[in-house]
Amino acid sequence: MAKFPGVDYLLIDSLFSEQELMVRETARRFVDDRVAPVIRDCFRDARFPRELVPQMGALGFFGANLEGYGCAGMNSVEYGLVMQELERGDSGLRSFVSVQGALVMYPILNYGSEEQKRRWLPRLQSGEAIGCFGLTEPGFGSNPAGMLTRARRDGSDWVIGGEKTWITNGSVADVALVWARTDDGIRGFLVERGTPGFSASELHGKLSMRASVTSSLSFADCRVPESAMLPGAKGLKAPLSCLTQARYGIGWGVIGAAMDCYETARAYSVMRKQFDDRPIASHQLVQEKLANMITEITKAQLLALHVGRLKDQGKADAAHVSMLKRNNAAMALDCARQSRDLLGANGIMDEYPIMRHLCNLETVKTYEGTDHIHALVIGERVTGIAAYK
Ligand SMILES: Cc1cc2nc3c(=O)[nH]c(=O)nc-3n(C[C@H](O)[C@H](O)[C@H](O)COP(=O)(O)OP(=O)(O)OC[C@H]3O[C@@H](n4cnc5c(N)ncnc54)[C@H](O)[C@@H]3O)c2cc1C
Repeated sequence: MAKFPGVDYLLIDSLFSEQELMVRETARRFVDDRVAPVIRDCFRDARFPRELVPQMGALGFFGANLEGYGCAGMNSVEYGLVMQELERGDSGLRSFVSVQGALVMYPILNYGSEEQKRRWLPRLQSGEAIGCFGLTEPGFGSNPAGMLTRARRDGSDWVIGGEKTWITNGSVADVALVWARTDDGIRGFLVERGTPGFSASELHGKLSMRASVTSSLSFADCRVPESAMLPGAKGLKAPLSCLTQARYGIGWGVIGAAMDCYETARAYSVMRKQFDDRPIASHQLVQEKLANMITEITKAQLLALHVGRLKDQGKADAAHVSMLKRNNAAMALDCARQSRDLLGANGIMDEYPIMRHLCNLETVKTYEGTDHIHALVIGERVTGIAAYK
């Protein structure tokens, strides 16, 4: 497979440390050598490339920005560059890593008991165990505060009842972090695969994220011990804090998908000839599209890098991350559409990665807070008025 040359119009590489560039190179080689050869068929066959999980674990990609319990302890920029390269491979693969690290390992590390950390973190880090994050319900997506899933106390146990849907990794997970309403507010529970009353079923028919497993989870009188509850996670702010971590990774990840689309379209347009045997890249309208794309990618790179540096200084908050996620997901979707256009009819073929990225990015625009919801977060920050309701 061809080596990806990278996309760096404005010498942004000069802003990265040696260590950050080395981490990116490791992830870039992994995607070129292991992901690129299989991903088209995975998407075609709606198959998650599970065989890559141990390799990603060995490379330190799971919970890469967390400290302890075998985690790589990367800084936020190194972590972002890993997400960027993985999503250049496929948004489904990056989703797997985001869920495992930001939505399962992060809350266990930050809100879990010592016993929960010891039991799960090393296995999740290596990829020996897979996790999923169950927040969305059939009737509550953008507004998780309305969730109907309940957990009631019964002696020293908790009994969970309800439905979750659109759950990444749901039917391959060894442990589901499930958010449920209790008399004490919203709490998180670690429900292990095989627990009586818990079942997961895969959703079929997706035209997006086909190389990722998406499932519904069902809980019917599902009994778990007190030790299954995350002791430090109280209220909706706990799952929302996990989403901020995952959205940060998405803000970097989508740059990778955009880079792949742009570079494919650029290379195609200098090679493809129309009218007087001239490359289509010699036409002004084609160059304008390429100029627009590289400009937007460059702005997205700078936004991600700045939020990453702020995050490492403890200064990035959820509203900053909303701007990063919203802008960069929209940017990537737009690049995918423009790139698809520049390939003409070839643009719809899966011989090229563009249409796959385009379909995936439709999900990325919606999940982890839709484009609208992030606009409202930004709107609230600048006006002081919450306009969600
Ligand atoms: C492939 C995939 C994987 C996913 N993985 C997970 C996962 O692992 N775990 C998990 O918990 N969830 C997951 N999700 C669910 C995802 O987070 C939700 O789809 C998302 O939050 C949106 O919810 P919804 O689909 O119910 O849309 P809705 O909330 O019904 O929104 C529909 C439309 O209405 C708009 N809208 C809603 N409310 C407002 C408002 N107040 N103002 C303006 N516009 C509004 C939205 O922006 C959107 O355009 C996944 C989804 C997909 C597609």
